[in-house]
Amino acid sequence: MKRRHFLNATAAGVTASVLAACGGGGDSTDAQQALGFEQAQDAKKRPTPVLGGSAKSQVIVVGGGMAGASVAKYLSLWGDGVQVTLVERATSYTSNIMSSMVLTGQRNMGSLAYNHSTLASKYGVKVVLGDVVNIDPVGVKVTLSTGTVLSADRIVLAPGIDFDEVPGLGTSNKMPHAWQAGPQTSLLASQLAAMPSNGTVILTIPKVPYRCPPGPYERACLVADWIKARRPRGKLVVLDANLDFVTEKDNFSNAFFGLHGGVIEYVTNATVTQVDPASMQVYTTQGVYRGDVVNLIPRQKAGRLVVDAGLANATEGRFAGVNVLSYASTVAGAEKVHIIGDSSATTQPKAGHIANQEGKVCADAISRLLVGQQPDPEPVTNSACFSTITMTQASWLTAAFQYDPATLAMKVVPASSAASTGWNKDNFEDMSTWFKALMADTFA
Ligand SMILES: Cc1cc2nc3c(=O)[nH]c(=O)nc-3n(C[C@H](O)[C@H](O)[C@H](O)COP(=O)(O)OP(=O)(O)OC[C@H]3O[C@@H](n4cnc5c(N)ncnc54)[C@H](O)[C@@H]3O)c2cc1C
Repeated sequence: MKRRHFLNATAAGVTASVLAACGGGGDSTDAQQALGFEQAQDAKKRPTPVLGGSAKSQVIVVGGGMAGASVAKYLSLWGDGVQVTLVERATSYTSNIMSSMVLTGQRNMGSLAYNHSTLASKYGVKVVLGDVVNIDPVGVKVTLSTGTVLSADRIVLAPGIDFDEVPGLGTSNKMPHAWQAGPQTSLLASQLAAMPSNGTVILTIPKVPYRCPPGPYERACLVADWIKARRPRGKLVVLDANLDFVTEKDNFSNAFFGLHGGVIEYVTNATVTQVDPASMQVYTTQGVYRGDVVNLIPRQKAGRLVVDAGLANATEGRFAGVNVLSYASTVAGAEKVHIIGDSSATTQPKAGHIANQEGKVCADAISRLLVGQQPDPEPVTNSACFSTITMTQASWLTAAFQYDPATLAMKVVPASSAASTGWNKDNFEDMSTWFKALMADTFA
């Protein structure tokens, strides 16, 4: 299938479900505005992509999560002859999206598991199980923990995030973050299940930027709703290092202070300075709190590989500066290394939907660069996000971004960005449809 056709087909597939979801919330004006934008994008004159790429072209992708799987799939489709090698250290991928529902017993970990077998069988991606421990940005090589060295024409890094150490935590597993879906998610779920009926849950929110801006607030709402149903004398203390809700303020403040007001205590400007897992105490700039269950979400930075390679040159040295036309690193000499997903520093949120979109923009750009062309000068991305406000109802938020040549950044298109007014059951059902479409577009 030709790249242009496929781009339209997949964009329409995901967008249609997103817009149906938004429309399903009953707010047709917002949905129609977003639809108008998409139609405008279809009408927009994009440069006609030239399929091609030398048969000898090689691209290594490190990390097979939302960003890495997307770029590997679409590079194979659009690169026409480019051999893509995906190096991933885990045998299967567990989705972070929807993982907070494991905490309330609404989902199990198996329902969030994906693998890379379709990328190999259907798209010809060479999947290597391995841990990349070093990269050579100038020589365009990666070294695996086994000592194997792989070289290519371009490298794409998509290793997700890493966490700051929290003073006092050490190697204790008593205060899991569960912000990288996996064993910590199951652990936190079992800690909640064992909590006494009058127990206190503490959830800490790190300073921005962090993975999934609405994520901690939606988790708080979900846990608060679970407390009401299962631990009626329990309570939830949310310790937010930020000065206020960092996104979807109307819906979250109505939920925190209205719907869940009897359960949630919300403390802002509360930066965690230290913890004591033995006494389950959390020390913050706003005082000391004790919980029976502590969901400690530390401050975040790019995956270790990016930081160790000296590519984290933005956001106080936490994330990787990139040229958003191609996602090439902005570090001098590292132009053949592209960084996508949560590791990169852009004006777009650190979200799975955006990681998928960045994967496509990057795949398109590399396909062009490999045949001596320039990247598309007008990339557009979009993101939809559903937030669980109760165990059965959700709100939604959608945003579109367009390249702004004046600032060299992706800029929000206000007319195409919207949030639901309130939450309802239809949105909750639409969330599942959106999730399935996004994951199919990434892994299948
Ligand atoms: C609770 C929660 C809810 C969320 N909800 C949403 C939502 O509703 N909507 C949304 O859009 N986003 C959501 N997100 C955010 C989304 O999950 C992330 O933004 C997305 O996963 C980022 O993709 P990524 O590819 O950058 O990183 P990841 O998906 O984490 O993938 C990174 C991959 O790289 C691999 N890797 C790392 N280092 C190496 C190495 N050295 N060698 C080999 N492999 C390596 C890892 O094993 C992993 O598979 C949520 C996140 C959380 C925590």
